[in-house]
Amino acid sequence: MLIESLNPATGEIIGQVESTAVNQIGRIVSEARIAQSEWNAMPLNSRGQLLRKFGELLLSRRKIVAELMSRENGKPVVEAYTSEIIPALDFVKYYTGKSRKIVRRRRVKIGIPLLKTKKAFVRYEPLGVVGIISPWNYPLMLPLGQIIPALMAGNSVIFKPSEFTPLVGGLIGDFMWEVGIPKRVFSIVQGGAEVGAALVSSGLDKLFFTGSTVTGRRVSEAAAKTLTPVSLELGSKDAMIVLADADIDSAASGAIWGAFMNAGQTCVSVERCFVDEKIAGQFIEVLRKKTAALRTGAGTESGTDIGAIIHKAQYDIIRRHISDATSKGARIVSGAEYTEEGGRHFVKPTILADVPMDCLLMKEETFGPVLPVVEFKTEREAIELVNASKFGLSASIWTADSKHGLEIACKVRAGAVTVNDVISYYGISDGVVGGVRESGTGRVHGREGLLEMVSPKYYEVERAPRMKKLWWYRYDDALLSFFETATDFLFFKDIFRKAGSLFKLAPKILRIRKS
Ligand code: NAD
Repeated sequence: MLIESLNPATGEIIGQVESTAVNQIGRIVSEARIAQSEWNAMPLNSRGQLLRKFGELLLSRRKIVAELMSRENGKPVVEAYTSEIIPALDFVKYYTGKSRKIVRRRRVKIGIPLLKTKKAFVRYEPLGVVGIISPWNYPLMLPLGQIIPALMAGNSVIFKPSEFTPLVGGLIGDFMWEVGIPKRVFSIVQGGAEVGAALVSSGLDKLFFTGSTVTGRRVSEAAAKTLTPVSLELGSKDAMIVLADADIDSAASGAIWGAFMNAGQTCVSVERCFVDEKIAGQFIEVLRKKTAALRTGAGTESGTDIGAIIHKAQYDIIRRHISDATSKGARIVSGAEYTEEGGRHFVKPTILADVPMDCLLMKEETFGPVLPVVEFKTEREAIELVNASKFGLSASIWTADSKHGLEIACKVRAGAVTVNDVISYYGISDGVVGGVRESGTGRVHGREGLLEMVSPKYYEVERAPRMKKLWWYRYDDALLSFFETATDFLFFKDIFRKAGSLFKLAPKILRIRKS
């Protein structure tokens, strides 16, 4: 079966790829498993060299990649650089440079004196075959944030791009294979839900899923049947809190960029904006003026700020959320204008004020260029409003007092909280991304992202192999008495009690009989 790739800004077919037959997935996993041991046997530096070459190829073909991403996903070309190519290249640089240090073997420090005859260490070993299922909204940066550390750690990878961005997904494979990464070490399966579901149940060693909470729940249920470990990076309803002392102009610029970039189709988009009532009127007016200057259109056209919506289903959700909010009393400050013709879907950047908390726009992920603004009276109220969501990917606090901003950040339930900026933390390779609650369970990027790709294994050598251990058989009253006193000696802090129990230990040890 062929998958057609459509340009969401024009409705044109820009390419086709062959969908992977579901009955081929078992074979692909078996081949990846065989190839993995050879890949892992390569020195880490050699794997790093190949991935560096991948980075060089991506850099040299950046214009073609940026153009394709804009055509296939709809994003402005400038965003293809800022939120895809630049962070992706930085992931390559980061993981090829830092992996050795992060996964180097760790000596185990033994606390209990009776165990000190052992020498032990922990090695971080590859998981085996990992599956990576990705969404369409960041078709390059998102999967590479997982593919690069997975390969560096010595795993083989089976990657399923979204059925809405199969060409960008295919290009990642072409580049990997061109630099010499074996096809069985990095393979691609193309297709939609059926192919994804088959991959989930194929006996992977771990699955990394990024996508909606609805699909994530399905994936998690299916993976439970084979006890396949899953990392879930899911949807959100990220909040922004604007305190009365914030720089209004800067906060307004951050809010509209945070809400509208990639046409609002970003997991860490600003989807709820809470502003102190003392500055709300002025803040909303600045938002309105700045939004009026934004241009909506094809991402490939120079000067476009907001591109197309990926498909009709997403467009319908956005419209439904806006109309539900306005029917419940929300006021349109700007936007709420739509274009739907010839398979193209655009939503003008929309700002709504006086939005009631019980509407879909404040509760469910909208994933469109919509900024709902709600006023608050006290900081406590603002924190409660933010934490009322079932999601928790990230949040931001805007204030002139960054120390105070961090104090509020501690009270916000989310995987990341930033002070005076939004979204861009996602591109920091050494940072960490992941949600709480219905935003997911896994962590990507940084040290933690690499540690998700390995299995810590414990190794130990007993340096006194002929010595029978005190805790071995036989058990009798002498042994019990020894260990009671040993417990007192090890854990009581009182120095006299410690000294007393040490004094009693010597004769007790002599009474122990070993078989
Ligand atoms: P989606 O859940 O519809 O699809 C994601 C991927 O899952 C696609 O490749 C799809 O083919 C596949 N899939 C669908 N059904 C499947 C099944 N039953 N089993 C296995 N795979 C299946 O999501 P989407 O519309 O592509 O992406 C948008 C969503 O992704 C939003 O909710 C967004 O918030 C989320 N997202 C989260 C993050 C994050 O870091 N937390 C990043 C980007 C996007």
